[in-house]
Amino acid sequence: MPGLYRDHGVVLRTIKLGEADRIVSFMTQGNGKVRAVAKGIRKSGSRFGARLEPTCHVMIQCYRGRELDVVTQVETVEAHRTLREDYNSFTHAVTMLEAVDQVAQEREPAPALYRMLTGALRTLDTTPSPVITPGFYWKLLSLEGYHPHLDGCVRCGAEEGPFVAFDLAEGGVLCPTCGRLGGRRIAPEALTFLSRLVGGELHLAMAEPPDPLHLLEVERLGIAALEHHSERRIRSANLL
Ligand SMILES: [Zn+2]
Repeated sequence: MPGLYRDHGVVLRTIKLGEADRIVSFMTQGNGKVRAVAKGIRKSGSRFGARLEPTCHVMIQCYRGRELDVVTQVETVEAHRTLREDYNSFTHAVTMLEAVDQVAQEREPAPALYRMLTGALRTLDTTPSPVITPGFYWKLLSLEGYHPHLDGCVRCGAEEGPFVAFDLAEGGVLCPTCGRLGGRRIAPEALTFLSRLVGGELHLAMAEPPDPLHLLEVERLGIAALEHHSERRIRSANLL
């Protein structure tokens, strides 16, 4: 049928439309970010049920529209129920969804981004760890071409640590001298953990998570870097 397509997608967010409908944003496997109308979803007994809630991984069938598509069918692939029933996991998941919503382009396929998101949500659902979301942000930044420079001061080139701050515009660490002039303070332990994360040692980092304070520093720095990169706020991060 012309204009009809099927795809896997994760629900990023939903907004009310009119009396009974919602606009649902999906990060899809093959079509990039898609916004589609789910008609009648707010009426009781809607055929969509609760399948179109943020974090749900679904198989959708949609009609292609000029601006908005129209959802015609939804099947649950992964409901991520455990994740959604845990406040802490859910708030972390929501900030990841918002981050993806900020960087993904509509109708521009981004299969790597899709895979990262489904992988992170699945891990958060089955084996939650405080390392998952910071790991996700920094992987997302690398995917977007913002790979942090951690081996030397980005201003003066000094290679000897310890480094004491991070410059968001330059995307790297600062030595004590340059750090006095600006940048965001960060503990050396947090930087060590960040090196592990961006060096692809996520599993090692999950097995031996750092001190919660340093973990939080790395997570907040990741959010700040994403905001700097996308030039948009990630509002749900205030809940963390
Ligand atoms: Zn320096």
